[in-house]
Amino acid sequence: MPIDQQLQRVLIGEVARCMVTHAEELTALDQAIGDGDHGLNMKRGFEAVLAELDKTAALPMNEALKAVGMTLVMKVGGASGPLYGTLLMTLGKTFPELPTRVAIAQAFSAAVDAVKARGKSDVQMKTMLDVLVPVLATLSAGGANLYARLRASAESAAAATVPMQAVRGRASFLGARSVGHMDPGARSSWLMIQTVVDVLERGGSAMKQDENRAASR
Ligand code: ADP
Ligand code: MG
Repeated sequence: MPIDQQLQRVLIGEVARCMVTHAEELTALDQAIGDGDHGLNMKRGFEAVLAELDKTAALPMNEALKAVGMTLVMKVGGASGPLYGTLLMTLGKTFPELPTRVAIAQAFSAAVDAVKARGKSDVQMKTMLDVLVPVLATLSAGGANLYARLRASAESAAAATVPMQAVRGRASFLGARSVGHMDPGARSSWLMIQTVVDVLERGGSAMKQDENRAASR
């Protein structure tokens, strides 16, 4: 799928609006196991992204991703800003000219690795990585009903953070008391992925073309 400017604008805009509208929910999750600012952090960052939407929508996709990532790094206080910023800036650096599923999965893999390096973190630590890594695995595997499976894998991965004990971030200060709550960053990652998948599904995509090609082989 050529990600045309119209689709790019909708993608960035919808993700940003989704974060803004879910600010209260994200904050409530962070109140349970952190300092209660995740929703506010994401809202501040993505309101800045919305304010720049005319500019970023006109850029090539890779440059747009880098610009959104930079905005998050600059505007979001807290751990999540630099981490989501790193994710998007690396995705921008590695984003393929021909965005097939396989090529996007490779770029996403590099972006997830960059988050791991920046956060000195990995799966099972009750962070956004507990959603990003399983979703990457689903994307890399491909196959039928990919959109539905990506949504399902983001949802179940976020739910799986509930019984985890936090090892990174502020929630780790709570030790065993961090168990029993969904990680706020896992929830924001789930929301982002769900929104991207919904937009791509509506807009038609390279993934579907890949699937069709694979099916006709
Ligand atoms: P802060 O923790 O500084 O208040 P936020 O509340 O905005 O920042 O973000 C918290 C979220 O950031 C956590 O729920 C977790 O998903 C993520 N996070 C925190 N530290 C790390 C880390 N080292 N690696 C990966 N993700 C992290
Ligand atoms: Mg916080």
